[in-house]
Amino acid sequence: MHPNAGLRDIDLSAEDRFKILSADYGPSKLVPKRDRVIEVYGDPTGGNPKATKPSFAWEARFMTALRRLPGAWNNADEPDEPKLYVHTFMAPYLLEALTRLDDAGLIHEIETIGCLNFRRMRHSKDPEVDLSYHSWGVALDINATKNFGVYHKTKFQSSRHRPVGAPWSKDWKAIWPHGLSEEVVTAFESVGFRWGGRWKGYVDPMHFELVAR
Ligand SMILES: [Zn+2]
Repeated sequence: MHPNAGLRDIDLSAEDRFKILSADYGPSKLVPKRDRVIEVYGDPTGGNPKATKPSFAWEARFMTALRRLPGAWNNADEPDEPKLYVHTFMAPYLLEALTRLDDAGLIHEIETIGCLNFRRMRHSKDPEVDLSYHSWGVALDINATKNFGVYHKTKFQSSRHRPVGAPWSKDWKAIWPHGLSEEVVTAFESVGFRWGGRWKGYVDPMHFELVAR
């Protein structure tokens, strides 16, 4: 178990927590925009547009296994076992966000994190070419079962679309009563992640990706 996991009694004001969670993080300026993703993160298809899994050469060069991250979520049984397989570029960003949550007494909100998953984007117009950022290991799904994706309702859409509202509004909380708090989202956004909870159309509050606007 991480030495701090669940043991600290942190009594900070909301203002002090916000300072910790939202502090400037220099490396966030290095996060690539979409048009530089392959240049910075490499090409997991290995040049094969029909690839269905990451190329071995890309994986060997760019991916790394993390262990002993802050929080009880990944340290319960075998602390020395690798617990999360991520792109090497993303590792310090993830560590920074988790450390901020730990310092602010909020790390217990993290229950599960998923990362590498080679797949086309479910909601993409062009599924043949658009890889999810999970395919690079630079996207995270946090507490997935409590933060499932939904389609925003418009008057043209069917009943499976719902009014979502702004994050943490009444409509929002009706859909995700146990969703991520604004403080958790602040920690990830302030180090450079983009949050799927702010997307229009398909709203994906479990999803964070390390790609700049
Ligand atoms: Zn995701």
